[in-house]
Amino acid sequence: MYRTNTCGELRLSDAGKKVTLAGWVQRIRKMGSLNFVDLRDRYGITQLVADDKADPDVLQVLNSLGREFVIQAEGEVCERQSKNPKMPTGDIEIKLDRINILNKAATPPFTIEDQSDGGEDLRAKYRYLDLRRGPLQRALALRHKMAIETRKYLDSQDFMEIETPFLIKSTPEGARDFVVPSRMNPGEFYALPQSPQTFKQLLMVAGYDRYCQIVRCFRDEDLRADRQPEFTQIDCEMSFVEREDVLQMFEGLLKHLFKSVLGKEFTEPFERITYDEAMEYFGSDKPDLRFGMQMHDITSVVKGHGFSVFDSAEYIGAIAVPGCAGYSRKQTDELTDWVKRPQIGAKGLVFIKLGDEVKSSVDKFYTPEQIQQIATACDAQKGDLILILCGAKHKTQVALGTLRLEMGSRLGLRKGNDFKPLWVTDFPLLEWDDETQRFYAMHHPFTSPKPEDIDKFFSSDNALLAQVKANAYDIVLNGNEIGGGSIRIHDRNVQERMFEILGFTHEQAEYRFGFLMNAFKFGAPPHGGLAFGFDRLCALFGGQETIRDYIAFPKNNMGRDVMAEAPSVIDDAQLDELFLRSTFGKEENK
Ligand code: ASP
Repeated sequence: MYRTNTCGELRLSDAGKKVTLAGWVQRIRKMGSLNFVDLRDRYGITQLVADDKADPDVLQVLNSLGREFVIQAEGEVCERQSKNPKMPTGDIEIKLDRINILNKAATPPFTIEDQSDGGEDLRAKYRYLDLRRGPLQRALALRHKMAIETRKYLDSQDFMEIETPFLIKSTPEGARDFVVPSRMNPGEFYALPQSPQTFKQLLMVAGYDRYCQIVRCFRDEDLRADRQPEFTQIDCEMSFVEREDVLQMFEGLLKHLFKSVLGKEFTEPFERITYDEAMEYFGSDKPDLRFGMQMHDITSVVKGHGFSVFDSAEYIGAIAVPGCAGYSRKQTDELTDWVKRPQIGAKGLVFIKLGDEVKSSVDKFYTPEQIQQIATACDAQKGDLILILCGAKHKTQVALGTLRLEMGSRLGLRKGNDFKPLWVTDFPLLEWDDETQRFYAMHHPFTSPKPEDIDKFFSSDNALLAQVKANAYDIVLNGNEIGGGSIRIHDRNVQERMFEILGFTHEQAEYRFGFLMNAFKFGAPPHGGLAFGFDRLCALFGGQETIRDYIAFPKNNMGRDVMAEAPSVIDDAQLDELFLRSTFGKEENK
């Protein structure tokens, strides 16, 4: 037996026991005649001690130890002279009888401490060392607990976890597929699933009316901040349900997770808002409700007073920022530069300071009474700073929404341990793309239109099609979309029409989705579901904004595994076997 106990386990009540521990050397210290070693495993850290009168063999080994050596230590649990209340094992230490080096270690390239001195790239290259650090251990432990509790809840609700294949037929869901060449079928390719969407729908046709899976998904996207090419979903589907059933079921899952993992009880139903409301009040389809500062459409209040910038704008919106009326000229100039950055894209910023004196950047155009009317339209109070943007409606709403988030952050109103979940419903079914002059599915092509919009859905008028609402919903937490789903199309004609709207010819639809359309001939039940982004959910529960720490071996933002150095070039023999030829870097040979 290598150990009798872990390094996180022993307490004062264990004093007097002879124990054997095994782990990694965190720190070695000598203080006067005493030699200390902090021994670490994933359960914690325990202090080992030997004085200068200890067994010479013990002292000799102690003298040869280095950081991260793997050792086995035997001794007696003793009460410490100077206790460390910050450590769970801080009341005790192990007086060494014997110590044994199980393996030496090269000096680690960064300190294995909660606050490491290693930069991100270095830590990624030595991920297995980074994973020894407390914050990552805690992140992975949280992830494990989240997965266990998810399965417990779903099992209690009669969901069956069923695995679906990774080598599948390409089923576009909005992103690019990763493809895998088939050696046995020369010239043909599998795709890795962007999600198990079609399979879970086929499982509904097959009668498995409550399906779930904690499953890896793959999307070959340009990695915007904090995305991973492979990520994990809690993927679920249910038959014989309406939207309300799905929302209740998964609100239940989230409440269970909050309670069992964080000890937070949500007794009230989650808030719900429609997509249109979300855009109007928050300029985002994933509003952060941890703070107010809602947006106000003041178009009708400010137009027509001779200020040409406003008079020519489609939309004028404002937020009232509490307590910021005292902003200096320098601060408002800085904010103006901030909104003009290309990511935000505003042309300028108009402000009104509701201090003891009311000051604004548009005093010339509005009387004090009119300024007061604007303040009233913004629900603003004395002490507020009103910020106003104008321009094309959707774009300006989004810009103002981003400014709202920025001001929330600057005022410290977006706290990691404050949780505000909500449902966003009634998304548009389709999104028009000017560049390609066609509609795209806003969620995915299997999402059903709302029943009341079915006539518009079958019309050939693009303006009507753009108004069709989807029976789709997202669950949002603190400004992040943590899940989304829909009631699906289960009727072959509706599905065919959807493919037609998306620009597939009959043959293309048949080639790509024939298997699904065929299945719909054989009694497809009404069904719907959703998927949670599991990595993000874990990160948010951990109070973090980035998912990387919650994935044991993540990729960097170029999609590279810098530890194993993947992707990598494969040799010609392997290419030949797959009937592939890499032309990259071989231009001169063409
Ligand atoms: N497959 C969808 C997605 O990955 C989720 C769903 O509609 O259930 O976003």
